[in-house]
Amino acid sequence: MGSDWMSNLLILQDRDMKLRQIRSQLENLPKERASGLAKVKELEEEIVQLHESVKTLEVKSKALESEMAGIEAQIVKYKNQQLQVKKNEEYQALTHEIELGEGKISDLESKEIELLYELDEARKVRDEQEVEVSERIQIEKVVLTRLDEKEVNLNNEIGDAEANFEKAQGVLDKRMLSTYRRTAMGMKFPIIVPVRQQMCNGCHMRVSSGVDSDAKAGIEITTCDNCNRILYSDS
Ligand SMILES: [Zn+2]
Repeated sequence: MGSDWMSNLLILQDRDMKLRQIRSQLENLPKERASGLAKVKELEEEIVQLHESVKTLEVKSKALESEMAGIEAQIVKYKNQQLQVKKNEEYQALTHEIELGEGKISDLESKEIELLYELDEARKVRDEQEVEVSERIQIEKVVLTRLDEKEVNLNNEIGDAEANFEKAQGVLDKRMLSTYRRTAMGMKFPIIVPVRQQMCNGCHMRVSSGVDSDAKAGIEITTCDNCNRILYSDS
């Protein structure tokens, strides 16, 4: 690449890209932070759910115990009544009630055993997953801290990057600068690319031989006849 103005254009593009990169990273930070915070919240909610499912079973188990205690108290009452009744039918009726109550208790006891196993399992799952989920929360928090550091660094860099970009613009003449700006608008970087073997390295299409020789001569700004990027010859 023979010409000074092309070197200056390439320096401008370099600094422009650096500045755009810093700006786009800064623009993305709020979104990245929000997504990290949402993940932390989601994981914390998972821990709450793990505790909730154990609590639900604990409440069920307590309710079962108090139901059983109620029936047992009722049985004691029936047994006491039996000591006082005179008639055989009344005694038999109470025996029937007592047997019904004992049957219920036996059913409830098997339910309670099942529930205790379930509770045991749920506590184990809660303890294991809580450790795992807590570790994931820690990782997300580290990521969030890194984002804060990244923001500080980017804010430190942007001043210099802007000044460097300004400086690079200052050494170019107005016409070239306006061609550069026009080309940069809505175009994917890099916008200044080499032409090699008559092929534009931006769109990878063949350029006309006129464009190829203009780019090689390096007297004027030459653009790709397909994608409009600024071309230079580095061979
Ligand atoms: Zn092209």
